[in-house]
Amino acid sequence: MKHIAILGSTGSIGQSTLSIIESFPERFAAVSLAAGRNVDAAFEQCVRWRPRVVSVATEELASTLSVKLKAAEVSGIEIVHGTEGTVRVATLPEVEFVVSAIVGVAGLEATYAAVEAGKAIGLANKEAMVAAGEILTAAARAKKVPLLPIDSEHNAVHQCMRAGRKDEVRRIWLTASGGPFRTLPLSAFESITVEQALKHPTWVMGRRITIDSATMLNKGLEIIEACRLFDLSPSTIKVSVHPQSTVHSLVEYIDGSILAQISVTDMRLPILYAMSYPERVESDLTFDMAALGQLNFEPPDFARFPCLRLAYEAAEKGGAHCIALNSADEIAVEAFLERRIPFTGIARTIEAVLQATPEGHPGTIQEVLVCDRQARETAREVLVKAGHEVAAHRF
Ligand code: NDP
Repeated sequence: MKHIAILGSTGSIGQSTLSIIESFPERFAAVSLAAGRNVDAAFEQCVRWRPRVVSVATEELASTLSVKLKAAEVSGIEIVHGTEGTVRVATLPEVEFVVSAIVGVAGLEATYAAVEAGKAIGLANKEAMVAAGEILTAAARAKKVPLLPIDSEHNAVHQCMRAGRKDEVRRIWLTASGGPFRTLPLSAFESITVEQALKHPTWVMGRRITIDSATMLNKGLEIIEACRLFDLSPSTIKVSVHPQSTVHSLVEYIDGSILAQISVTDMRLPILYAMSYPERVESDLTFDMAALGQLNFEPPDFARFPCLRLAYEAAEKGGAHCIALNSADEIAVEAFLERRIPFTGIARTIEAVLQATPEGHPGTIQEVLVCDRQARETAREVLVKAGHEVAAHRF
């Protein structure tokens, strides 16, 4: 029986993880959960899963949850909150495996604490890897803990890499669906609405990653995540647009062989793979080969998706630029979702923040968080300067 902690239990990945635990009760048990602000969902999960510890974002939310659980006569659950709460959830002595699925850098400290505490990690929270990948991978090496990717592309690469040695890898091909605007005329990008951007053609995910997929910044974050996870340079990570999202990624070896991983577009499969690694577990997540049909691959359009170029540039510089890429995007996406900036304003904001970011290589998590705060501040200033804070609600 593997004891699991879930950081981000109320989110899309968190719920898929609980669904896997539900399907394999003889293999996995949920012992601690970290939610954010969704107290109702956290309450339901406490009633269903009876974790040892549950965390929510603030002290006030923790009190609300406590009252609700008392009223429902559910006892014996330790309720914690904030960053300390997420760290407690991730480092509980009986936890063996931590699913890191809080969105953004809010998940960073708990993920790092889990690595330091020697827990195996299933990593969905790509922003933690982008902001502090060098620190996280160094700590994981020192503690000899596996960092197992849940992100479907990196999970696919991890699977394909089992077929050869790292020094036999020539390139990694990360596949990208291309998002909802792959074929939209460039002239229409300025007027893309929030509703259009939130409609992903192949995956159902949280709001930020859905917008990041529409701008392809998500693929940019994944390029950096791949560099860190597999210890490869940015130039060896290529992107191929594959609208069917059937091939989840490919590894090209020096002899010319290219290995691909194909499976259903369902995050439960990479979660199950990470949680059961190095074993494979029989599941009903089968792929219907008869329905395979046509598979298309095309190069990405850097003019349409400037975020991809910005990500490669940040990946080459590393350190502060990778942190700023993520922080600026988080602020810009929030502004877009609040209809304060147009879709194209996301890339413009990120570019301006990257230009204003001095080179630097933070060596500790605290330094990363300082850098993150500075980049967020710069992003807010960029938005104010651009006059977008008062823009009409029309996007
Ligand atoms: P969601 O938006 O669906 O969920 C985010 C989770 O993080 C929620 O549980 C939320 O809690 C929690 N959270 C947010 N802020 C805080 C905070 N300050 N403290 C504690 N918890 C917090 O996102 P996804 O599940 O889609 O994505 C999660 C991560 O996985 C992201 O990094 C994403 O890039 C990555 N990922 C997701 C994929 C997907 O298919 N969804 C695929 C590959 C990677 P609450 O809702 O209670 O506020």
